[in-house]
Amino acid sequence: MKKKIIAFAIALILFISLYYANKIMVASYPYVREIKENSLTDNVKDYKTTQSEHFIVRYTMPDEKYVSLALEIAEKHYDSVTKDLDYKPPGKTVIIMYHDPEKMNTDFSLAKGDTAMGLYLNGVISIVSPELWISPTEDLEKVFEHDGPIVHEFAHLVVDDIARGNYPVWFTEGIALLEEYRENGFVWGEGVTGDKPYSLKELTYNFNQLDETLAYKRSFEIVKAISDKYGMQSIRDILKYLGRGLSLSESFYKVTGQDLEKFIDSVK
Ligand SMILES: [Zn+2]
Repeated sequence: MKKKIIAFAIALILFISLYYANKIMVASYPYVREIKENSLTDNVKDYKTTQSEHFIVRYTMPDEKYVSLALEIAEKHYDSVTKDLDYKPPGKTVIIMYHDPEKMNTDFSLAKGDTAMGLYLNGVISIVSPELWISPTEDLEKVFEHDGPIVHEFAHLVVDDIARGNYPVWFTEGIALLEEYRENGFVWGEGVTGDKPYSLKELTYNFNQLDETLAYKRSFEIVKAISDKYGMQSIRDILKYLGRGLSLSESFYKVTGQDLEKFIDSVK
């Protein structure tokens, strides 16, 4: 009899902890993230600092001439991105401008050999100096704003804040690309086509193994299709449910009454 009671108690505790695991995860997320955020900014504690109303840029001397442009671009898009996603970060957002991409990759734990002109991690945005990826023959101001990473990475930060870390990578990439599209008219992977569009399962469990351009393109198209059919409000509502610990499929169903997998299969 005693054994049965113990077994029952263990089963009950397991059930409760599984049920609450996501809720505990989202509740503790901001605190865990803050610790990680401090260790990211610690890596650049000797960098210079300039700030505007909503952003702080950390940089080294060779990039001093690009700091005001970076702040200008960030501030220019701040209102519409925060309105689009209906959320304003409580403090100023830190953007670290690296003149040494290898240091950026190490600080932001990007896998060796990978390259990125911008990254988002644990509440902090990093960007590679525009000088290192925009050729001197191009109009740096235009290219930095239109093709640069600031809007994209800032959208990742807002998504992470609202959803409290509870989202699949493809979904935040889709939202970041949607914001780039809404802000700068930038269409990811325009004209690129694959054999068969990626399914929800492939995107959710295999994102990093998929063809990068096609995976990003598919993520963008799905999120755009959601906003086209159900409006931007549906994206905002889904993010809020994620922040309460619901899964993406549950959140999507709550907001639209539809099955996410079926919806994605219908997006061609
Ligand atoms: Zn991204």
